[in-house]
Amino acid sequence: MRVKLISWTPNPEKTVAVSAYTSISSKGPIWRWDNYDPENGEKMIRNVTGYGHHSVIEHATFTFAVEGVSRACTHQLVRHRIASYTQQSQRYVKFKDLDYVTPPKIERNEEAKKVFDETMKKLAETYQKLIDLGIPPEDARFVFPNAAKSNIVITMNARELLHFFGLRCCLRAQWEIRELANRMLLEVKKVAPVIFENAGPRCVSLGFCPEGKFTCGKLKDVLETYKNLEGRAEEIEKLKSLGD
Ligand SMILES: Cc1cc2nc3c(=O)[nH]c(=O)nc-3n(C[C@H](O)[C@H](O)[C@H](O)COP(=O)(O)OP(=O)(O)OC[C@H]3O[C@@H](n4cnc5c(N)ncnc54)[C@H](O)[C@@H]3O)c2cc1C
Repeated sequence: MRVKLISWTPNPEKTVAVSAYTSISSKGPIWRWDNYDPENGEKMIRNVTGYGHHSVIEHATFTFAVEGVSRACTHQLVRHRIASYTQQSQRYVKFKDLDYVTPPKIERNEEAKKVFDETMKKLAETYQKLIDLGIPPEDARFVFPNAAKSNIVITMNARELLHFFGLRCCLRAQWEIRELANRMLLEVKKVAPVIFENAGPRCVSLGFCPEGKFTCGKLKDVLETYKNLEGRAEEIEKLKSLGD
């Protein structure tokens, strides 16, 4: 999969801090913007989010371009409703081939991989046969599997992102959406490190695992890893290995 942060609110942390000052300051937001002190602004963000007043971080919005994830993954993704999505259409795109995602556990099992690839090949042939018979792509696509690759553009504000990371960076989430969430997290850390300094699975901000009997049992490793993330692309391997 490929994940790229393609646009975001300019000066996201200044925007959030100035919004936060607005609620408690006799000076107006224009004065706050024109006389901004980044150090105080960072403190303000930490204070206000520490109190749980998360509405101020809704002013910062982030847009991601995502390529090569499965339809299984995008189906899980679009359950997150406080977001905007635009997904590659299987109605309007006539596919030449069936590009698909192979789950790692199938990839590592020679026999399972053979059965999987044969099935994908057969589905691709059936799709093509239906197209050749004059069936429109919107109907021929009914044979496409959950594994079919898709592209999607996602826009979320920082508040929804923190919620999304809380659920989807968690080791209880499926490996693919977890990788997507982790890649998105590494991207936003680069442009808004203070807003996202405690981002990650819910245990990172809570300090304990709220999953009860479903806990992964790796609290210490998970906390250590997420607390020390800098937003470097290569950190994705460390995040992936937590799920091994
Ligand atoms: C590990 C895991 C397993 C899952 N398994 C299943 C499953 O088996 N079956 C299944 O159907 N789903 C499953 N889900 C999906 C899950 O139930 C949620 O639909 C998904 O995670 C989106 O979460 P959300 O509703 O909190 O978030 P969002 O839609 O992103 O909403 C964010 C927050 O906004 C508020 N909000 C949004 N809409 C409303 C509303 N209409 N009314 C009131 N408040 C609202 C809520 O506080 C919500 O938490 C699973 C998710 C995870 C992480």
